[in-house]
Amino acid sequence: MDDSTSQSFRRAWTESSLEPSGPTDLAPAPDSVGAHLRILASGSSGNCSVLVNSGDSGRRAWLIDAGLSPRRTRLLLASCGLTLADIESVILTHLDADHFHSGWLGPRAALPPVRLHLRHEGLARRIGIPGVQAFGGAFNLGPCAVVDPILMNHDDLGVAALRFDFASGGRLGFATDLGRATSPFTRHMAGVDVLALESNYCPRLQLESDRPRFLKDRIMGGRGHLSNQQAAEAAAAIAPRLHLVLLHLSDQCNRPDLAAALHAGAPYALTISEQRHPSRWVPVPPRAGRPALRVAPATVRIPASLFSAFPA
Ligand SMILES: [Zn+2]
Repeated sequence: MDDSTSQSFRRAWTESSLEPSGPTDLAPAPDSVGAHLRILASGSSGNCSVLVNSGDSGRRAWLIDAGLSPRRTRLLLASCGLTLADIESVILTHLDADHFHSGWLGPRAALPPVRLHLRHEGLARRIGIPGVQAFGGAFNLGPCAVVDPILMNHDDLGVAALRFDFASGGRLGFATDLGRATSPFTRHMAGVDVLALESNYCPRLQLESDRPRFLKDRIMGGRGHLSNQQAAEAAAAIAPRLHLVLLHLSDQCNRPDLAAALHAGAPYALTISEQRHPSRWVPVPPRAGRPALRVAPATVRIPASLFSAFPA
């Protein structure tokens, strides 16, 4: 669950009023070699991103999180020139309602195969998500990439932060709903080309808001979300080479200008994702000279480091 007790109301408002806003949203998935990330929506009313890779095996696509209704997801994919049938799998960071929309449980939703962390597998099966493949360590996206997760603190079951090492040499980090940006986390993500990282709240706006105390404590207490300052410190430690994408800004307790101000003068480009409009396509370009992809093992392994940030 995310940062509003009125989430169901907000979702209803979102689903009825948020449509792709016109020609400026029409941006087909690039065909150029390498990977591209587009945040279709990000925030407490729903999170969904599309990742496209073009290379020797053609153009392939995945979703990261599925927190929008199937209908809205289809609409936004169409604005990218994609359909659900193009999506090879959905990689879920966790199962909060703003990251997995219950509409996908419907019989006609046509949910692509779901990949999620072992920590979330039991819950996924209990709520009836079909076709779940659980990971406990690095896994392949076909020949295109190795995905290396690290489990982080977030509420009871944690959240998977993901590093994508593409065969083309580009590297992408994707991390949202973090309790804290720990040292194992920043080391895991260090030196990615593109980092998508949540920057959820301004502490002053959070404290001044009329939210109940328990909710403020949950968000700010190390098992909730990163503040703008915490995100900026994490970005400084990780030092993305090209681009920082800020995710999951709170509508109520944040503003894009406040989040952006902490990255003024940084050596990377900045994109701030929005709840109501898709972001631009952010390239994760090929990079020569990177080591070859490691092959993920056929059997699940759980490296000790995976749980270093998440006591059992
Ligand atoms: Zn969330």
